[in-house]
Formats: sequence, C-alpha cells, structure tokens
Amino acid sequence: MSYKELDMPRRTILTPGPVEVDPRVLRMMSAPILGQFDPAFTTIMNEVMEMLRKVFKTKNKWAFPVDGTSRSGIEALLCSVIEPGDKVLVPVYGRFGHLLMEICERYGAEVKAIYQEWGTVFNPEEVIREIQEWKPDVVAMVHAETSTGCMQPLKEIGESCRKEDVLLIVDAVASVGGVDVRVDEWFIDGLIAGTQKCLSIPSGMSPLTYNERIEKRIARRKKVERGIASEDDRTQNASFIKSNYFDLGMLQDYWSPRRLNHHTEATSMVYALREGLRLVLNEGLEERFERHRYHEKALTAGIKAMGLELFGDPNAKLPVVTCIKIPEGVDGEEVRRVLLDMFGIEIASSFGPLHGKIWRVGTMGYSCRRENILAFLGAFEAVLVQQGATVQKGAGLQKALAYYIEETGESKV
Ligand SMILES: *Cc1c(COP(=O)(O)O)cnc(C)c1O
Repeated sequence: MSYKELDMPRRTILTPGPVEVDPRVLRMMSAPILGQFDPAFTTIMNEVMEMLRKVFKTKNKWAFPVDGTSRSGIEALLCSVIEPGDKVLVPVYGRFGHLLMEICERYGAEVKAIYQEWGTVFNPEEVIREIQEWKPDVVAMVHAETSTGCMQPLKEIGESCRKEDVLLIVDAVASVGGVDVRVDEWFIDGLIAGTQKCLSIPSGMSPLTYNERIEKRIARRKKVERGIASEDDRTQNASFIKSNYFDLGMLQDYWSPRRLNHHTEATSMVYALREGLRLVLNEGLEERFERHRYHEKALTAGIKAMGLELFGDPNAKLPVVTCIKIPEGVDGEEVRRVLLDMFGIEIASSFGPLHGKIWRVGTMGYSCRRENILAFLGAFEAVLVQQGATVQKGAGLQKALAYYIEETGESKV
C-alpha cells in the first residue's frame, strides 16, 4: 500500500496564529542541513541573536530561541526564574494570563492573580498599587492578549517593577513583529515572542530575551551535573532549575561561544527564523507596525460599515487582532465553517466566556495584506447573508475598497 503525496489546499489565514508564511521563509527551510557545531551554522546562530536584539529593541546579551512553540519559551523563562515559594503577581485580562498563572503554580510559586474584565486592560496604577502593597518577587503578564484582542501598556508597570526591585516577565508572543515592543525602554527583565504570529514563521520556536538581573538568578540556580561534581556540590544547590530541556543556563551555554552540547538544534527552524527576522528588519520595524495599523483600519472600517459591532475597549485594541461580536441568532461556528469550506478563508473563534460570542480576525505578518482583507470582507458578507444575518449589503467591501483607493490612488491603474 502506498500513500498519496500531500497536496495542501490553498488558504487565506486570518487567525491570531498560525499565519501565512512568506514563501522565502518556506524555501529557506528546505536548505541543506548543517551540523549544529559547524562554523557555517554557528555564524547563523550569532546573526539570529543580533537580529533578535534589534527586533526586541534591547541591548541584552541574551536573545535566542527555545525549541518548541511559544509556550516553551514562556515555560523556559518562568521555570528558570521561579523558585518554590516565590511570590508572583499575575494580572489577568484574558486566557493567556491564566496560562502564566498555571505555569508559575507548577513551579511552586505563591501566585496572586488580579483580574480585569475580558475586553479591557488594567489601569497601570492598579497593578502598581498591588506591586507596592503585596511586594511580589516577580510580575508575569501578557502584552497582547489574542483571546480578547487587547493590548496592555507596560512602561509604567515596568518602571514600578524596577523601582521596587521586582522582576517583570512579559508574554509578547502575539505582539513582537506586529506592534511596538521596547524591552529596555519599558524595563522588561524577560520577554517571550512567538514565531507563528506577527513574525510569520512556522510554529516551533520561541525567541526570548532576558537581562543581567535574570541571568544572575539563573547562574545562582545552576544544576551541577551528575558524574561531574561530588555529592557535596550537588546537595548544596537545592534551588536548581527543575527542568533540563528548559534550563536557560544550559541553553545559554549552547548559544554562547562556549557551544556546550545540550539538545540537537533544529537547524532548519533556525534558518527559517533568520529569514523571517531578515524580512522583518528589511521591511523596517516602524514601517511594519504602520502596515499592520494601515490594514487594521481598512478591516475595521469595513466591518463597521456592514453594521457589525467590534468587541472590546477601543482604547485598548490590539492592532493585529480584531474581535467582532457575533450577531444575535447567528451560529458563529457555522459561519466559520462555510468561510473555510467555500472560500478557503480561516478566522478564529474565542475561548471561555467569549466562546460563541465573538469571532477573532488576525491580521499578522505575511497574512496582513490588502488582498486578504478585501477577500475576507467580500466572503464574510456573502456567508452572513446566506446564514440569514442582517447586514448592510455591499457596504463593508466598498468601504474598504474606497479606503485603499483613496490611500494609494490605485484606482487609476
Ligand atoms: C499564541 C499565544 C501563546 C501560545 O503560543 P503557542 O505557540 O501556541 O505555544 C501564548 N501567549 C499568547 C499571548 C499567544 O497569543
């Protein structure tokens, strides 16, 4: 028996990840394999670190990817920092805040969560008050909540953390490469990004960065390797990092010129990461953020013109995720199914309290293009009409089209 070769259907992906990948990145993944200690490869590693520092806007020495999806980076940073009994404050305003809590709990932290209604973000003052009163060791929070389409301002919280000598760890998985993230200027001690969101690289790596404040902790928590140290040495350090795969001290030794062996590096994914970062930096960070805002405007104008409502506080809106309220009487999942089956367009639903209440449209990285926005608006209206929803026929697509033509003058072409 033989199996057929795969023939992937063509999709327009407008979810908050995974998103479409530039063909140049995909091409790079089929380049020949290099050994992980081959100088030709270690040169690539050094370039990736340099490019990551630029994307993160940091002077940190440490900026490298962890192998695994974004939550592997989150887990690596948290498990390398948190010692049992550490007080960790987690301000939660969506699903991924709960993920931070859960991981912190697994590593023995005393977790305190404060909650904000989904669709809004914290007034920084509220978080700062909690930092001053409870005096945590670590604050862990999400920068861009894809579950609600909201973005939390971090600078004042970062300032307060630094002043109170608290470590600030940020999940910026959904924002890096799509909206401005300033690690040093916002006093962020450790930050995690994702590949399959705004960096538009396949899922499977998690770039992160951290500063000397965290590096010091990691050094103190080094696990002395069995067979190398005496029994005494081993028992001395009870607070050693409780994961081997995610031990940033060990990963650091592999990404530094020491090149100590740890795992077998996923070299093809590193090629993809380098190519993706190269495209981001060549486009220009500010230009790229502007592109995301530009298409967001077309999308939201179109949605509103159709007579639909956006979900969430507009002042806290994340430019790369647009949440749309599902109108009364419309089956949100059926709309998604028909969009995918008939038009090859994928959008997302949401989680927990928002399940069945909103659709989420991601406009991230390579997916964030004019033809995608226009194709979606046209198809979305058609499906809504077919499903019996009341919409302003033709209005959404016309509005977006007019916006693009006005902005670019391309009607003359
Ligand atoms: C997507 C996402 C994650 C999880 O990423 P995985 O790659 O699926 O592990 C974590 N945090 C946020 C904010 C996300 O959007």
